[in-house]
Amino acid sequence: MTLQQNLDRARGIKFPTNAVIDGKLVPARSGKTFDNVGPRDGKIVSKVAACEAGDIDTAVNAARAAFEDGRWRNKHPREKKKIMFKLAELMERDLEELAFLETLDMGKPIRDTLSVDIPTAINSIRWYAEALDKVYGEVATTPSDRLSYIVREPLGVVGAIVPWNFPLHMACWKVAPALATGNSIVLKPAEQSPSTALKLGALALEAGVPSGVLNVVPGYGDTAGQALARHMDVDLIAFTGSGEVGRKLMTYAGESNLKRVALELGGKSPQIVFADAEDLDAAADAAAWGIFFNQGEICNAASRLLVEASIKDEFLDRVLKRAKQYTPGDPLDPASVAGALVSEGQMKRVLGYIDTARKEGANLALGGKRVREESGGFYVEPTVFHRMDNTHTLAREEVFGPVLGVLAFTNEDDAVRIANDTVYGLASGLWTANISRAHRVARKLRTGLVWINGWDACDITVPFGGAKQSGFGRDRSLHALEKYTELKGISVTYKP
Ligand code: NAD
Repeated sequence: MTLQQNLDRARGIKFPTNAVIDGKLVPARSGKTFDNVGPRDGKIVSKVAACEAGDIDTAVNAARAAFEDGRWRNKHPREKKKIMFKLAELMERDLEELAFLETLDMGKPIRDTLSVDIPTAINSIRWYAEALDKVYGEVATTPSDRLSYIVREPLGVVGAIVPWNFPLHMACWKVAPALATGNSIVLKPAEQSPSTALKLGALALEAGVPSGVLNVVPGYGDTAGQALARHMDVDLIAFTGSGEVGRKLMTYAGESNLKRVALELGGKSPQIVFADAEDLDAAADAAAWGIFFNQGEICNAASRLLVEASIKDEFLDRVLKRAKQYTPGDPLDPASVAGALVSEGQMKRVLGYIDTARKEGANLALGGKRVREESGGFYVEPTVFHRMDNTHTLAREEVFGPVLGVLAFTNEDDAVRIANDTVYGLASGLWTANISRAHRVARKLRTGLVWINGWDACDITVPFGGAKQSGFGRDRSLHALEKYTELKGISVTYKP
């Protein structure tokens, strides 16, 4: 695969633009579209149905009808599994096309969409298909004239609202367990990256998911997203995105039908490197990868690097060497390990944080600028600040870009204090050869995930989600099924 071959292939990619509602591919009722801008070169790649409240209403009604008549939920579990496997198979068949759509929509390198994003999304569909008949109910302890059993039932209509940083991957983290538990779904992709979700909706129909069960409705957040979250007939909003929108969703739920809300929000994740770490090269690899992979547009990005003061300067040198490898290139170039930021707005936001860090007196060790401007795309070079403390804006707010803040600490207590001194609690990591310290510190870190001597070293088998203002509810693992189901206790009284 060469850049030229990929450019040729990209020209042949057909962007899906219609909503998927009640088994049909349809434009917005109003006929309106929005521009889907490709961050690679700033050009419009497609014009997508700009759905609004009326379209959401149609989709929710279709989802409700499908749920009530049981066309999906009452299928034999083996049949549901077969259809979900078929969906995974079709996604595999179209893996390359999905990868190109993701790269062109969102700016991430083609090598990642081909090897990480799309395969991970497929794995989610398969994993929950495999799980769907492996989860049992419970029988309670009762007196001898009674049998009480507890079943998990699907909630009904799930509204899934997802962000642009891993568009298909995040969508499948929600769609797969929601489908596996028998719900109907209305998926609202981010307006910056709607294409792979729309394709997913069409593939689900091809696989045999009955009409109305998986609806995909593109549109802006404050129109389509808000209408979904305020809808009186939606039972759950499963959300990944910013804290700002998460807060609104809780308000909408309170002002409408008290629907359940599950929030996967942002982070300011600390990666702590103790001087006694066994492999400082591996730690430096993880420090760079943890913040620069996906252009830093990762909710669990390792955006605060906490290094024991005695090794800080030497360790920083190792990180800087590796950081340079993430200099952005054309996302379609198979050699690029970093691409464009998702939008001009996001690029300006990131550059704004860089500016603030400078003004607040942090020391710029690397990067700091927009690059590849001639392409028309939105690229920022890997950027590292040090000689800063945890009160700096860069240490407190989520940048969602390739910007690392390096902080020094003096001892273990100091490291834990700085790590926990944040409103977020999504993920954290620590590097040490001292096994007692590793477990002790892991227990003290107030985050949903802790990685010891590795970063992001887990997969679908481990629940993903945060503490504090990083949200509540979990994606991945069997625990995700809890979010999409309600417990029902059934008691039978009989003659002993
Ligand atoms: P965002 O919150 O702006 O948008 C996310 C989604 O919400 C989009 O689909 C958007 O259209 C929709 N939305 C916006 N306003 C809405 C409203 N008023 N009502 C209903 N829906 C609305 O976030 P983003 O900019 O797309 O993504 C970046 C954020 O997502 C970051 O803060 C990041 O940390 C977070 N994120 C978290 C995780 C996680 O799992 N914790 C994963 C990825 C991203």
